[in-house]
Amino acid sequence: MESLLLIRYGEIALKGKNRPFFEKKLFKNIEAALQNLKQPFQVEFHRGRYYVTTTEENLFPALRRLQKVCGIVSISPVSQADLDLDKICRQAARLLAASYQPGMTFKVNTRRANKKFPYPSPEINRLVGAYLLKENPGLKVDVHNPKTLVNIEIREKKTYLYSQVFQGPGGLPVGVTGKGLLLLSGGIDSPVAGWMALKRGVKIEALHFHSPPFTGEGAINKVLDLCQQLAAYGQKITLHLAPFTEIQQEIMSRCPRPLLITLMRRVMFRIADRLAQKRKITVLFTGESLGQVSSQTLENLVAINEVTALPVLRPLIGFDKEEIVEISREINTYPISIRPFEDCCTLFIPRHPATRPTLDQLARAEKKIALEELITRCLENIESRTILSE
Ligand code: ATP
Ligand code: MG
Repeated sequence: MESLLLIRYGEIALKGKNRPFFEKKLFKNIEAALQNLKQPFQVEFHRGRYYVTTTEENLFPALRRLQKVCGIVSISPVSQADLDLDKICRQAARLLAASYQPGMTFKVNTRRANKKFPYPSPEINRLVGAYLLKENPGLKVDVHNPKTLVNIEIREKKTYLYSQVFQGPGGLPVGVTGKGLLLLSGGIDSPVAGWMALKRGVKIEALHFHSPPFTGEGAINKVLDLCQQLAAYGQKITLHLAPFTEIQQEIMSRCPRPLLITLMRRVMFRIADRLAQKRKITVLFTGESLGQVSSQTLENLVAINEVTALPVLRPLIGFDKEEIVEISREINTYPISIRPFEDCCTLFIPRHPATRPTLDQLARAEKKIALEELITRCLENIESRTILSE
């Protein structure tokens, strides 16, 4: 049997003249998200709504994928009826039968977009409601707090009926706002920052620094799995794996210990800057949140920013850890992030990191290592992989 999903967007409706651009992008992203489903499925767009027609077997797999397509606010499995009141009544009865319990309360809620349909909405509510009560004497109407809502939308050619509404992520379609490079660790924060970038329409590539043999396969798998989760929202994530061992060892052996974290971040940002330019990316994203750890003081953020002219966006800057954890649970990155594998930074963390290093101190420390050479070598040895959504 054929099944139909109705998809709604939110913020795109406010886009004025640019609206078709956003709508087309969302159309493409919806098609891409459904690509590995068993055929057939068909996506159509009509007056601010998308309709996906597919098989009954595909319905829930499609729904699950669509719930991760940025730009989508909600999705409803819908049934259809012709523009005929009797047929609408019968279809409403079928819809209600799916969730029927004796004594159940309901309400009919009609939207008549097609003003040519001869009954006004309140009248349709009343007539369909009366029909449902006659068919199922155990039902009760409750207009304030109904257990089931029978939604009826009268449109140009068809009537759509639904009672379930599933949430999408909201935001904007990935790809409409440009491209960003996400500095992705194996921690809790940066995947959430990446998700927030995707949700605002940014297409992201990820850069991860690892320190073999101190960080092993487990750490890489963790980052690959995190990218897999993000790819469900962004379709495809290119992950760049940058070898950091040599740089870390040089800094460790030649520079003052308390400056270690800030110095490492400055090198990471220099490498990110160059990689971004090579990939034609204009913005960096990190998972930093103000004051969360001693390397995230304002002074440290200034020191880190100094080495790149690119804007560094930190979507989590004002979030508490609890709030970040909550999002990471929702987007399924949390169980991956807490897997116990060493990160290149936690391995060598100094006991008393400097919270207020001066730019002068940092520049002096950096003179002790062959910075340019190390950066070039790291860039040459970056390994890139593409992670597709499942
Ligand atoms: P996270 O949970 O994202 O690791 P955190 O609270 O542990 O964050 P830090 O370890 O200070 O904070 O890292 C701050 C930011 O620096 C991270 O959010 C990430 O964007 C970047 N970063 C840290 N380590 C790495 C790494 N190994 N590779 C790429 N980026 C990193
Ligand atoms: Mg970390």
